[in-house]
Amino acid sequence: MITSTNPYTREEIDRFEELNEDQIDKALKAADSTFSSWKKTSFAERSKLMNAVAKELKGNKEEYAKDITNEMGKPLEQSISEIEKCAWVCKYYAENAEKQLANEVIETDAEKSYVSYEPIGVVLAIMPWNYPFWQVFRFAAPALMAGNIGVLKHASNVMRTAQNIQKVFERAGFPENCFQSLMIGSKKIETVIRDKRVKAVTLTGSKPAGSSVASIAGEEIKKSVLELGGSNALVVFKDANIQETVKSCVMARFQNTGQSCIAGKRLLLQKEIEEKFMEEFIKQVKELKSGDPMDKDTFIGVLAREDLAEDLEDQVNRTIEQGGNLVMGGKRNKAYYEPTIVSGVKRGMAMFEEETFGPAISVTTFKDSDEAVDLVNSAVFGLGVSIFTEDFDFAAKLVPQFEDGAVFVNDLVKSDPRLPFGGTKDSGYGRELSEHGIREFVNRKTVYFN
Ligand code: NDP
Repeated sequence: MITSTNPYTREEIDRFEELNEDQIDKALKAADSTFSSWKKTSFAERSKLMNAVAKELKGNKEEYAKDITNEMGKPLEQSISEIEKCAWVCKYYAENAEKQLANEVIETDAEKSYVSYEPIGVVLAIMPWNYPFWQVFRFAAPALMAGNIGVLKHASNVMRTAQNIQKVFERAGFPENCFQSLMIGSKKIETVIRDKRVKAVTLTGSKPAGSSVASIAGEEIKKSVLELGGSNALVVFKDANIQETVKSCVMARFQNTGQSCIAGKRLLLQKEIEEKFMEEFIKQVKELKSGDPMDKDTFIGVLAREDLAEDLEDQVNRTIEQGGNLVMGGKRNKAYYEPTIVSGVKRGMAMFEEETFGPAISVTTFKDSDEAVDLVNSAVFGLGVSIFTEDFDFAAKLVPQFEDGAVFVNDLVKSDPRLPFGGTKDSGYGRELSEHGIREFVNRKTVYFN
């Protein structure tokens, strides 16, 4: 059985019987046979259905959001925003997929030559609990619009949400089995990846999970996309607008109770503004309201599981033992972890070197831009970096020096359907969203007429 437990009340919400081998086989057979008809549908038909998905999401956002909050402790208002963002990505691909996948003519010696982008079949998505709707929709909207079939293995703690997502597609009128949620734990995933009917796999989650999935996919010569962790830096230069920058940094670290791959986890401050910045930063962090995730004015909920809060507590404690200064917070109560700031953090300390997945931020100072770039690039991750400065020319010169998948100037790193999203180094490979995302799971067919 797979169990869903509310991390705030600690009550069991639901139990799901795990699929057996025969049931998995049946699901993949259905997915594969649906592909033969789905791939022949026109973009207009797919768009109509994808717009219906957006409508279904918007029309029932409270219903879906409540289950997210119950299963993983995200404050309700943030769960509702997540559903709205899913509607956005569906509308975006409903409007843009056809032109993003139109034949691309290339002048050669041929009479005519072009690249066509064709669906590949059943794509497996292994997804995490932190944005349990969004992570799935940013895969599913482009995959289905491209003519592929989606099969989801969701995180074991959000299986009711997994069922809800399948329900969204069914309610919107999608043909049966275009999108299925498989009720299985990660131990059963290997046979699914190796199954001949599954053509590719995408995973969002931790490095160990990504590494295992990519190894199996590699042995089977199947394409994989990995969106793994991050330890984004927030780099504040002395000329930054302090008030606005503090606001962005607080959101970057503390929204979703800090459980985001692109959260700003390492705050890097130019020495001259440390005192002024920290005064305002501490003030704003103290104003964040913790409480029952179901209350509309709660901003900090609980972590999705108690073991995740214990891990964070351990990282903070180790950092303090290594010489970091606890500025505020640092206490845990079951799955709740207080908003926490640790200053004086240096290379080699836990919160600098490891990904922290919760409401705790490390603070490090730097002398000049060379040192800042060095500190940013010293991370094993490469998802994104935010820099704050009023000098755009200076910022533009810094951009090529960062090794990350994204650089945001004067804003937090965020995902947007119109922009590619993904990392370098231990943060994974491949891109989601935009034209780049929809082209990950297609056959880029070279066509040559002479
Ligand atoms: P995991 O990476 O373990 O889980 C993410 C997904 O991968 C889940 O569906 C999980 O299934 C599945 N999975 C886990 N191990 C394997 C495996 N060996 N083969 C195939 N699938 C697997 O994340 P955790 O929930 O344990 O969180 C641990 C840490 O991972 C976090 O603290 C954070 O640092 C990072 N993380 C990063 C995320 C991101 O957005 N990049 C999201 C979530 C976590 P199941 O639940 O059944 O084990």
